[in-house]
Amino acid sequence: MSNMQLDTLRRIVQEINTSVSLHESLEIMVNQVSEAMHVDVCSIYLLDERNQRFVLMATKGLNPNAVGNVSLHTSEGLVGLVGQREEIVNLDNAPKHERFLYLPETGEEIYNSFLGVPVMYRRKVMGVLVVQNKEPQDFSEAAESFLVTLCAQLSGVIAHAHAVGNIDVFRKPNSLPTYKTFQGVSGSGGIAIGRAIILYPPADLAAVPDREADDISEELQLLDHAIASVRDEIQSLDDKMQDALMAEERALFSVFLRMLDENALPSEIKTEIRDGHWAQGAVRIVIDKHIALFAQMEDDYLRERVSDLKDLGRRILAYLQEADSSHRELTDESILIGDEISTAALVELPVDKIAAIVTTEGAMNSHMVIVARALGIPTVVGVTELPVSTLDDVEMIVDAHQGRVFINPPRRMRTRYKEIQKEEEQIAKDLKQYETKDAITPDGVAVKLYVNTGLMIDVVRGVQRGAKGVGLYRSEIPFMLRERFPGEEEQRAIYRQQLSHFANKPVVMRTLDIGADKDLPYFSIEEENSALGWRGIRFTLDHPEIFSSQIRAMLKASIGLNNLHILLPMVTSVSEVEEALYLLERDWVAVQEEEQVKITKPKIGIMVEVPSVLLQIDEFAPLVDFFSVGSNDLTQYLLAVDRNNPRVANVYSHSHPAVLRALTRLVQECHKYDKPVSICGEMAGDPLTAILLMAMGFNTLSMSSSNILRVRKAICHVPMPDAKVLLDQSLQMNNPLMVKSLLEYYFKTHGLGDMVKNSSRAVSL
Ligand code: PEP
Ligand code: MG
Repeated sequence: MSNMQLDTLRRIVQEINTSVSLHESLEIMVNQVSEAMHVDVCSIYLLDERNQRFVLMATKGLNPNAVGNVSLHTSEGLVGLVGQREEIVNLDNAPKHERFLYLPETGEEIYNSFLGVPVMYRRKVMGVLVVQNKEPQDFSEAAESFLVTLCAQLSGVIAHAHAVGNIDVFRKPNSLPTYKTFQGVSGSGGIAIGRAIILYPPADLAAVPDREADDISEELQLLDHAIASVRDEIQSLDDKMQDALMAEERALFSVFLRMLDENALPSEIKTEIRDGHWAQGAVRIVIDKHIALFAQMEDDYLRERVSDLKDLGRRILAYLQEADSSHRELTDESILIGDEISTAALVELPVDKIAAIVTTEGAMNSHMVIVARALGIPTVVGVTELPVSTLDDVEMIVDAHQGRVFINPPRRMRTRYKEIQKEEEQIAKDLKQYETKDAITPDGVAVKLYVNTGLMIDVVRGVQRGAKGVGLYRSEIPFMLRERFPGEEEQRAIYRQQLSHFANKPVVMRTLDIGADKDLPYFSIEEENSALGWRGIRFTLDHPEIFSSQIRAMLKASIGLNNLHILLPMVTSVSEVEEALYLLERDWVAVQEEEQVKITKPKIGIMVEVPSVLLQIDEFAPLVDFFSVGSNDLTQYLLAVDRNNPRVANVYSHSHPAVLRALTRLVQECHKYDKPVSICGEMAGDPLTAILLMAMGFNTLSMSSSNILRVRKAICHVPMPDAKVLLDQSLQMNNPLMVKSLLEYYFKTHGLGDMVKNSSRAVSL
């Protein structure tokens, strides 16, 4: 593709990004494409799934009155052919083609050449883009590749515009708030009915939600104050740089100051405020408009000023947010929404007041999701199309079992979901009887169930639900709650609480596992490929002072309790364990000397998360006392699928035969060396896969407290011989969906249907 075409492409995408509605986006697209390609006609047809028809949504060249009034069934016409084949159709004489369908309303019979390109989004046809010429001539390969690239780029934009504008673009608008449905990935099951509250990162223009101004004159005042502050700030920057920068290099500051002149940006922002927007939203609208204008300029210098403009916008916003006292209070029915919500941001909120969480990013095993699961908050992540900024205070239903989010749900749907909520409360009540039962199969095999902890609430719930120990204490969670690395004594007190609540029971404390999606607010690790980067033991061995203060705190906390086990995360090589063991031994000797007490030496284990460990159990076994599988990361690395990326969430599965086979062999290997092996990833908390893990012979299964009762119930109902048969059958299957169906079928036919997630609870209207 030529540079000129690339430029055109970029311009079209930028212009569409700033359009306010789907219809406007499509208009822009057809006009720009027909101009750039010098074609007589450019039209876009979108698929109306409900009626299985391609509807003409925009055209340049055909009869404009046909827009919205002409449609073809998916089996009709050349447009239908492009949709059916999911590939390009390039014809020099379209009217002669057997599939050509003459639609008198369009006046297209005079056009001979036809090039139709499918607009695909996530493997599904969303529409067809067509260009036509009177001249009977094939379109060139260059034209094809231009349109293919354009459609690939634009499919996401269309999907988004589609979602933002109106999910049902084919229905006539009415005065009722628009009901919309969005699909994401289920992070933590449950149902919530409530209103959205946006959690947006500070000084991020793109994240500012749309909100009506409560008091226009107050918003105008806030703006005046913010503009004056930014002017002062830039003026003093300019003064400071007098000696360091040349006059031309400081020219930007005067450009900024001119932009802040009352007649420039401020007057435009004020117009938006007078139209009813709150000041922050008005700044976003005006800056976006200018960015779009700049981006279209042919002049490179001006194009590059886009980032300066953004910077100016951020500065104004920062002052406005500083003065913002309108933070909405959380209520019992608050549904927290945002693009990305960090674990730290989540746990800082009054978590008992969050009815549900919905984010556009993240995936099933992102760290925040694991914490939300522990807290029992229904969570849906990876809802990529959710127009977050437009949903402030909007009514929604979150069906986290199915990963669905309903905006402005109709009354019938609300009533049905209220009923389902009641049924779920009943199921939870029934599960309560398992709090005091042991996890023993009907044929008498006992399985040890441990709890994963991090917050104190996990400990309390773990004890209440009869956990036999802590299989994974995620020590990074208290680190995330602070504004700096906690000191040794501070850590000792935290660890003591964990150990003493489970006195006489084993508590496995993992050393600091940060990096990848586990960021500390005060120690951000920015890396291109963070899942493969500086994380877990790689980080702590590079910071022995942090490692040692943690080990020393754990050892001191264990005095008199003697139930401490230490677990090393993200181990890749034997040398890492040797180094860690050296530090552990050194700290153990030193703390005993300092405290003048004998401290029982903790058992030391490693996490099996990196596939290399699977192949070196013989070398690790003599060094350690136990193994613990982190199936969340192990699945990520075995399948090479980012556990946080919603785009590939369908490829990430702990029921994948490769994962099941690796785990089966691992258990055998560990037992060959007489080493206990447990599993503490989310796989252990899924009743379906827990049965397979039990059959593999894992010594303990450790899970979030919210899953213990369900898993215990499953164990109490599935005899070991059945579990072994299910495992054998699963190991012979070649894809995860078949494994899942097999397990679901067994559960549904053995009185355990309510344990099957995503059961057929879909509420349709
Ligand atoms: C895992 O990877 O499975 C695990 C338990 O650790 P985390 O989810 O905290 O990375
Ligand atoms: Mg892990």
